[in-house]
Amino acid sequence: MNDQRIDQNADQAMEDLQIAKALGKIKHKILVFSGKGGVGKSTVSANLAVALALGGKRVGLLDVDFHGPSIPKLMGMAGRRPDMRDDKIVPIPFSENLQVMSLGMLVDGADDAVIWRGPMKNGAIRQLVKDVAWGELDYLIVDSPPGTGDEPLSVAQIMQDLSGAIVVTQPQQLSVDDVRRSISFCEKLNLPVIGVIENMSGFICPHCGEVVDIFKTGGGEELATQKGIPFLGKLPIDPAIVEVSDAGQPFIYHSSSSPAVKAFEAIVERVVEQVEAAATKKESPAPSQAGEGAVLRCAMPLDGGVVSAHFGHARSFAFVDYDVKGQVAIKVEEKTPPPHEQGSIPRWIMEEKVNVLFTGGIGAMARQMLEEKGVKVVSGSPQVEPLAVVAKYVQGELETGENRCDH
Ligand code: ADP
Repeated sequence: MNDQRIDQNADQAMEDLQIAKALGKIKHKILVFSGKGGVGKSTVSANLAVALALGGKRVGLLDVDFHGPSIPKLMGMAGRRPDMRDDKIVPIPFSENLQVMSLGMLVDGADDAVIWRGPMKNGAIRQLVKDVAWGELDYLIVDSPPGTGDEPLSVAQIMQDLSGAIVVTQPQQLSVDDVRRSISFCEKLNLPVIGVIENMSGFICPHCGEVVDIFKTGGGEELATQKGIPFLGKLPIDPAIVEVSDAGQPFIYHSSSSPAVKAFEAIVERVVEQVEAAATKKESPAPSQAGEGAVLRCAMPLDGGVVSAHFGHARSFAFVDYDVKGQVAIKVEEKTPPPHEQGSIPRWIMEEKVNVLFTGGIGAMARQMLEEKGVKVVSGSPQVEPLAVVAKYVQGELETGENRCDH
């Protein structure tokens, strides 16, 4: 790895830390996407967010679909601009526990963002993710750009630590092929698929209210079964959905007796079940051991964004999970250590299941505590950005000096 690449990585690592900070208080982050446009992805995103909020969850809805961000219209917020506070974007409240932010609220015309080039889109997604002040949330629903190209890829990578993706499809064979691509896209990204929703499956007759199967339905369900992925449910075509959506009202508000609303409520219940069950499993992962697994968990005290000389006196620590084989950081977080009392910070580092600790300086007691528990302590570490120090270490190129400060 040359120095320029390490510098770029270090810049990105700093931004990753800011993103981790911005998203740090969000329990579950869900990406909603589809193999192509027009299948009802935004309708699902908006109504999922509203339904979760109606169920008492604290919810954020983020729209990063460059192909005509439609969330402002669907949520009755067309033309609204967010306020700024302390250099942060304040999302627009829809209700007491639902806040909304869309790329469409930052561009002038609905079509402006479509013509942006890749790096600009990437920068816009990063900024939206980094600069929106969500605060504490139970759920963040992300309306992703459609397809399996660079745009949804950037979103999935930038968001870090997503709970998973919901794939929206239509029942016809062509859409099912798109979903097959969407599922392999998630597999490549190691992104769990929360499940598949088959939208526009059957038609609700406006006269009798019965669901009529005008096309073959069940394609999405068949594919989900084949792939061993949860099928979240079918949402019928309901002319009322278009009508209320056009009027800027999420249809879930419309009528509790409509079969579409009932179907959607059952879908939301399954989403919550899937996401919360997966989160419980994730809370007790097997610890990764240095040398044994491919992931090295590194920690370092920070001072001004670089490795600090003072292990016991840093206000924050960076944690980097580094895929040694792939030579890439898979997770970067910034956390606040417990108050400085004897042994409290080494204990915290051990609880965090860290393999390697980098620091400019560390006291003899703390070092001994950590080393006894198998944490490798690298002192005299240079004062550089977190990812740079980890990358150099993994390459066997990290030059260390004296244990600079051990108070
Ligand atoms: P996407 O985000 O995938 O491009 P949208 O959510 O914008 O798709 O939906 C496309 C159009 O289809 C919108 O006019 C929307 O109101 C309509 N629509 C979505 N789902 C349904 C449904 N189940 N019944 C009727 N119309 C629907």
